Amino acid sequence: MNGDWEFGTTAEPLDRFARAVIELTDGTRISLVDRRALSSIMLDREGTSSLPKLGREASDEALDADYLLEALKKKKIAIKPALMNQSVVAGLGNIYAAEALWEAEMDPRRSAAKVSRPKLERLVDAIRLVLSPKKRLPGRYTDKRGASRFAVYDREGKVCRRCGGAIERIVQAGRSTYFCSSCQRG
Ligand SMILES: [Zn+2]
Repeated sequence: MNGDWEFGTTAEPLDRFARAVIELTDGTRISLVDRRALSSIMLDREGTSSLPKLGREASDEALDADYLLEALKKKKIAIKPALMNQSVVAGLGNIYAAEALWEAEMDPRRSAAKVSRPKLERLVDAIRLVLSPKKRLPGRYTDKRGASRFAVYDREGKVCRRCGGAIERIVQAGRSTYFCSSCQRG
């Protein structure tokens, strides 16, 4: 509602509304500046907080096929909602989950626990590709000619750029999934 974390240095005067301050040995100071003192901070010494457990970051090198194999082996859900589960992969949202599955030619409806290791390797490469800065221009959903910059996302009824099939839309776990059933068969 109010207040924010501010980054500065220990050489600067402390904001008079700083409610909590973390100072690092390199001189970095992180202050919670909250004029109305509405924020609360929880110190989790024992690792027992109710904060959600997060999986590996989508853009982290440590996200590999071995990790996904382990993280997905008990997931009795389809691969698309599994990829969006933050305890499996942190930071992969609806758009890029769909785009990565298209790149990997993987059916978003297939069972997460049954995806083979080679296919997971391909999926990891696809996640890296769709999140790469070249593919990911911030804030733009269309290119200069007004064409969607996504392969499948929000392209229901349009032609698949790989196989010429029609992009379909289904709902999985309450979210729209766009995919091409002609070429996403893996
Ligand atoms: Zn296709």
